[in-house]
Amino acid sequence: MKIYKIKEYKEYSIFLWLAIIAIIGLVVTTIYSNSKNQQSDLIKSSIGNTYLKKTIEELTKNLEPRYTSLTYISQAGDTYESIVNKLDVGKKEKKLLLDTILNENTLKILRVNQKFKFKFDNLSNYKIIEFKIETDKKNEILFEKLVANNSFVSKKIKKNFKKNIVYKETIITNSLYNSAVSLGIKPNIIIEFARLYGFQVDFQRDVWKDDSFQIIYEEFVNENDKVVDTGDIIFANLNLQNTDLQLYKYEYEKNKVDYFDETGKSIKKTLMKTPINGARLSSSYGKRKHPILGYTKMHTGTDFAAPKGTPIMASGDGKVTKAGWCGGGGNCVKIKHNSTYQTVYAHMSKFGRGIKRGVRVKQGQIIGYVGSTGMSTGPHLHYEVIENGKKVNSQKLKLPSGKVLRGNDRKKFEVSKIKIDVLKSNLITKLN
Ligand SMILES: [Zn+2]
Repeated sequence: MKIYKIKEYKEYSIFLWLAIIAIIGLVVTTIYSNSKNQQSDLIKSSIGNTYLKKTIEELTKNLEPRYTSLTYISQAGDTYESIVNKLDVGKKEKKLLLDTILNENTLKILRVNQKFKFKFDNLSNYKIIEFKIETDKKNEILFEKLVANNSFVSKKIKKNFKKNIVYKETIITNSLYNSAVSLGIKPNIIIEFARLYGFQVDFQRDVWKDDSFQIIYEEFVNENDKVVDTGDIIFANLNLQNTDLQLYKYEYEKNKVDYFDETGKSIKKTLMKTPINGARLSSSYGKRKHPILGYTKMHTGTDFAAPKGTPIMASGDGKVTKAGWCGGGGNCVKIKHNSTYQTVYAHMSKFGRGIKRGVRVKQGQIIGYVGSTGMSTGPHLHYEVIENGKKVNSQKLKLPSGKVLRGNDRKKFEVSKIKIDVLKSNLITKLN
């Protein structure tokens, strides 16, 4: 129930560029995953601790120290159990510690003269917030408490490496890459930054002079203060033409980390299959007899029949590249989501408030209303997805599922987000 001519969208030359950019993206992502694999799992709860320490330090300055530590060197006849039993903690916590240690494959054998270091939070029910076990003279395993689910996450670390939380910000003067390099940000982090924003930003076209970014990430330094490794990005904000695109690292399930925007939506956004509510799929992608022209022709989109005036949503975050007349497509909106995907919405009766070329939209934002403008036999939305310049079947797309935190998960995320915001202000204060 629609129609319009293929030449409505004339910018074919950019499709070639999109493809090239996508390939670059793929290469970069591959390089990134390889290097990332070597870094193993990351330290998870330090943000919380840093924040907590700062706050509590103020409150308990004159009282007993909240945080204490204990070092123990294993002796002949010790077992992990006997060592854990020496700690001044409750039964349940002892069991948790012992189970954690016994689950660590590299700690199967306990030797004499192995160093253990436990860190206590004396105000907490479960006191141990962190502990380390030396595996040999150069390596140790660090266990950090995940407060949210009362468990530990382990990480092998080279000894004497200190983890720093780094904050950097700058205005982009030439390219984002060059600006980042001149701030001393390691390539690993820059690649990760680009990968994270790759779901919503086309770095070749969307980043302009005088845009800016802020970033908080982990860095490991050796005894000479030389950076030997990088860790995770904890927070980032990319400001493009005065729009903030923020992302927060968050562990939403044990050992499952993702990045979310300030509303708790994963940045790994999929495109919505049906960018309209209460509609009926009336014509799918593929060959069909054309309702107006009468002959068989490829239908390069999906039609959803819905009453005139039904709101149409942006199926993903992105930038409006067209909001105007598309000939057979009538009033149409075209959105560019990233360097790979674009979507088109045709036959609208009118555009959403503020929807015009160059505007950034969020997934779910109303961009227009169902109509029957252009070559159309009745009110419906004609929806197209363009992948690397090629129209594809939106109903068969396999994209990463974009997690949305709701209810209790959302509450927990808010707490984590506030901690990161506090950490950020602290780091900014230190800069000045
Ligand atoms: Zn159609």
